[in-house]
Amino acid sequence: MEIVRRLARLRELSRDARADKRKLALVPTMGYLHEGHLSLVRLAREMADLVVVSVFVNPSQFGPGEDLESYPRDSHRDAELCKKEGTDVVYMPEASDVYPRGFQTWVEVEQITKSLCGAFRPGHFRGVTTIVLKLLNMVQPHFALFGQKDAQQCLVVERMIRDLNLDVELVIGPTVREPDGLAMSSRNKHLSADERRAAPAIYRALTTAERLYARGEREAARLLEAVRDGVEAEQLLKLQYVELVDTEALEPVERVVGRCLLALAAFAGETRLIDNTLLGEERRGE
Ligand code: AMP
Repeated sequence: MEIVRRLARLRELSRDARADKRKLALVPTMGYLHEGHLSLVRLAREMADLVVVSVFVNPSQFGPGEDLESYPRDSHRDAELCKKEGTDVVYMPEASDVYPRGFQTWVEVEQITKSLCGAFRPGHFRGVTTIVLKLLNMVQPHFALFGQKDAQQCLVVERMIRDLNLDVELVIGPTVREPDGLAMSSRNKHLSADERRAAPAIYRALTTAERLYARGEREAARLLEAVRDGVEAEQLLKLQYVELVDTEALEPVERVVGRCLLALAAFAGETRLIDNTLLGEERRGE
């Protein structure tokens, strides 16, 4: 496994692989890797000959007052974990290389970035799409792998790929959870013992909604109420939003028709946690 810091070297590896007709996969991450990330690396390993994991805490997707400074980092451990999973290249660029002096070009998906997390994190998805497009240009992968845990991010990246005719296949891996249901996240490290005990209520609330749906409930208001009640039953959790939206426009629906995304964000102390589930059937052609 090679740890690459310079773009010129990354391009060389990518060009050589493509010249040899080898398939490349990119797993973009912000590091402090856990099983959620590693499940994507494994999936990438099955699909591609050259697996590139990028580790970069992207400053442009953090808003003022968000946790850029305190975001957990451990590049040594990240490299070890990548190596164990058979990664070929770990790309760990310097922020000054990614955003050189004078940088002023941004990519913005206009509409579906306004709802859900986007409503509370203005500019976040602009930072995400810009860094993802930059990484896709740098690595030129055949496959780019993302986790369903960040459902809106997946839909926004999918929209960008379609809108900009990018020649890459988006692959979405399922959410990996702790045994008690808490979605794995680098930010979980910041949870106090009490917050950690409270956090799985988020997943339990989502599974309550799934059960109601399985029993025939289709009304958004009822499903949302169940999630709200489940999260708010935990005093240490503060719900930021819970919404039921369609998976095209990400607009609120009144009833589950076709495939819908039930997504939420909640704070446990200072730590912002997100989770989601998909309800309903995919319509034909989706
Ligand atoms: P991050 O380092 O948090 O930016 O995440 C990098 C990638 O890993 C994104 O595509 C995330 O959606 C994905 N990811 C993070 N947590 C999980 C998880 N618990 N299960 C599956 N994928 C995840």
